[in-house]
Amino acid sequence: MRITRRECLATVASGALSASEALGAGKRARRSETGSKPGQITLVQINDSHGYFEQHREWFPGSHGKPMFRPAGGYSRIATLVKQITEETMGRVLFLDNGDTFYGTYPVARSRGQALIPILQQLGFQAMTAHWEFAYGPARLKELASQLPYPLLAINVYDNETGRLAYEPYTVANVAGLKIGVIGIASNLVDKTMPASFSEGLRFTLGREELPRFINEVRAKHVDLLVVLSHLGFPQDMKLLSEVPGVDVLLSGHTHDRLYQPVQQGGALVIQSGSHGSFLGRLDLEIQDGKITDYKHELIEVAATIAPDPATEALVKQAIGPYAVELKREVGELAVGLDRATGLEATMDNFLLAAIRDAAGTELAFINGWRWGAPIPAGKVTMNDLYNIIPMAVPISTVVLTGAELKQLMEDNLEATFSANAFKQQGGYVKRCLGLTAYIRVQNPTGTRLTRLLIGDKQVQPDKLYSSAFLTVQAVPAKYNRNRRDLPVYPVDAMQAYLKKHRPAKAEILGTVVVV
Ligand SMILES: [Zn+2]
Repeated sequence: MRITRRECLATVASGALSASEALGAGKRARRSETGSKPGQITLVQINDSHGYFEQHREWFPGSHGKPMFRPAGGYSRIATLVKQITEETMGRVLFLDNGDTFYGTYPVARSRGQALIPILQQLGFQAMTAHWEFAYGPARLKELASQLPYPLLAINVYDNETGRLAYEPYTVANVAGLKIGVIGIASNLVDKTMPASFSEGLRFTLGREELPRFINEVRAKHVDLLVVLSHLGFPQDMKLLSEVPGVDVLLSGHTHDRLYQPVQQGGALVIQSGSHGSFLGRLDLEIQDGKITDYKHELIEVAATIAPDPATEALVKQAIGPYAVELKREVGELAVGLDRATGLEATMDNFLLAAIRDAAGTELAFINGWRWGAPIPAGKVTMNDLYNIIPMAVPISTVVLTGAELKQLMEDNLEATFSANAFKQQGGYVKRCLGLTAYIRVQNPTGTRLTRLLIGDKQVQPDKLYSSAFLTVQAVPAKYNRNRRDLPVYPVDAMQAYLKKHRPAKAEILGTVVVV
């Protein structure tokens, strides 16, 4: 479905736009009708594609909370769309990548990003920014970025040694006579909530302080359009635009929002376009005198009905070829489909939690509320499915927590997920837990959201000790260090063992986290 400016104005009543914003857009449109023919440019966004080379299942909402999984994505179909849009617009198009591109599946993780390079080299993108790209360490990301025919942009990543920006802050593209400034903002979380190796020698800021300066610098180059390519997340981007004027379009990423129509904030149009390469966001703009006078938007599903581009298909086959035999290996059976699309708990995570708790022999288990991970249908399970659940080779760890620490761990996570200050939202979904029941009030202030924490049907005791399995510092930060150790067991091994024991394996929503 394509949303035009007029249709968007019709949604004022539903509260998607304020009346004054709608009036502003109307005024701009009238001016274009009396002026000279405006310039046209199409922006196409991909965000959070997470290394999904091939078509895969994607989660779509169904009635009564029952999801539908249908095939979507894959670079060969993305390439077809890129070619179609380029032809349709006669090259008046900019393809931009919001990052979280180089992490999420086995071939991309195993090759430390390399497997994707030949595909990205010919796809026609013009700039990107980054987040999980740092998973292989900053030095490796420099190597990857240097192989791309377009820049990685970030106004908020500093080299600790020199104090200078580690990447170019912006680029100015000339497209059919129009000058388009693109400013990049990488994720600010890399040195805050992620393993230390991701950010060695680097410092990450929010970009809030830097953005006005770079807007001035780019505007001084007389651009026709100023675009921000951000990986802060949709709530964070909306807050940023409420504080910083001068942006025409903000392409948002990180939070996997599927925006079926643009949102207006602080004079800017904002879009975000799902995840896993299952969608592209298309924004057709008419521009006059450095102002957007009209637009159309479409959240394009990379559907199975799109014909794959043969050249890209060949590159995909080449990229995943070395891993194909291992990835196709069947390792068990699922009685139910698994997904990771729901905020409080998810079937995919309940399966992973059960497997790591079994392997560690603990009372509880925790993992971070990661958003990446395409759904897996019921039936035969392959190694590819297991690696999509967790592509990283991190050991299962154990720790002993007091009841008081458990409460603190949960309160900190609820603040990082639901903070009223969007800039303090640093989580993904709510922390994934097994073995406890948490009753929460989302709307409460910091530190008071957990109203009851039960293990079995007993309340957690502040001084009692509880053993727990977990994966990475994202699940249990390093400050919790009582009997903290890494086991010589990896989650993929634990899931295989679990599937052997339970055939077919089940994973249900357990009511672990309840909003009251
Ligand atoms: Zn991200």
